[in-house]
Amino acid sequence: LWRFWGPISALSKVYSQLLSAMASAERIFEVLDTEPEIKDRAEAKVMKSIRGEVIFEDVSFRYGEDKPEVLQGIQLHIQPGQRVAIVGPTGAGKSTIVNLLMRFYDATGGRILIDGQDVKDVTLESLRKQIGIVLQDSFIFSGTIEDNLRYGNEDASDEALRQAAQHVRIDGFVSQFPEGYDTQVEERGSKLSVGQRQLLAFGRVLLSDPRILILDEATSSVDTETEQHIQAALHSVLQGRTAFIIAHRLSTIRDADVILVVRDGRITEQGSHDELMLKDGMYKKLYMTQFEMQQSLAAKTGA
Ligand code: ADP
Repeated sequence: LWRFWGPISALSKVYSQLLSAMASAERIFEVLDTEPEIKDRAEAKVMKSIRGEVIFEDVSFRYGEDKPEVLQGIQLHIQPGQRVAIVGPTGAGKSTIVNLLMRFYDATGGRILIDGQDVKDVTLESLRKQIGIVLQDSFIFSGTIEDNLRYGNEDASDEALRQAAQHVRIDGFVSQFPEGYDTQVEERGSKLSVGQRQLLAFGRVLLSDPRILILDEATSSVDTETEQHIQAALHSVLQGRTAFIIAHRLSTIRDADVILVVRDGRITEQGSHDELMLKDGMYKKLYMTQFEMQQSLAAKTGA
């Protein structure tokens, strides 16, 4: 019952205020397509292997000189391997935070440090190699399923490929195609479901093995079996990585090491589930509403 924030959010004013981040994935994607004028500095260094510590020091941002500030005073100190859930209403600034981390744009104030290195001082290529992204509707290009997996790491051995495929649970459905991993898929084709595309994207992450992961959690419903596969795959993929998750599922949010509640470009609450429940803030209100809704749904359905 109610595994998603998304569908239930329509029922509640608090939800619709806080947790409908649907549009964010497309926006990260638009940004990928239309690379803004971010360039390497002349003296940019290659970012060497990292542990995955992320610091935002009083970061502010506007999308143009004549535009309003969409982030203000963002302070974060995330330890390597921590799982960060970002929640907040549409337009709050969640995607912008991860856009800045990947340096699709440069912060207009403050600094962003990864393992102590300012993201502005390293080459874009070496920065982005350290960061994997999985969007709600994951990117598939025309080619075979194997080509799509190898996009994570073209030099991966067959053995590594096979292992990654098992870890992210795509083996099962791929083996049902007569041509297995050689099956042709199309960019907009329907051979793969949304859930299967997301599993494939997890596979890419395992192969490219970045220390930082950005995940825009899917809100659309998938069947129970795929959902279980996604949860298991997610578990594998999160191991040993710092993860920023634009989160919709209650379980993801509750399990996060750090929850960021973002409103109007500011982090209004920051802490673990237990810490935020002790405060009488937005998060608690949200959680209690969800809890009550579960109770009443359970009462109605007899679940
Ligand atoms: P969220 O991910 O929480 O929905 P965003 O980070 O996408 O929020 O957006 C924060 C604010 O920045 C919104 O007011 C949005 O309209 C604005 N914004 C987002 N992307 C752009 C852009 N490329 N150009 C101008 N404004 C943008």
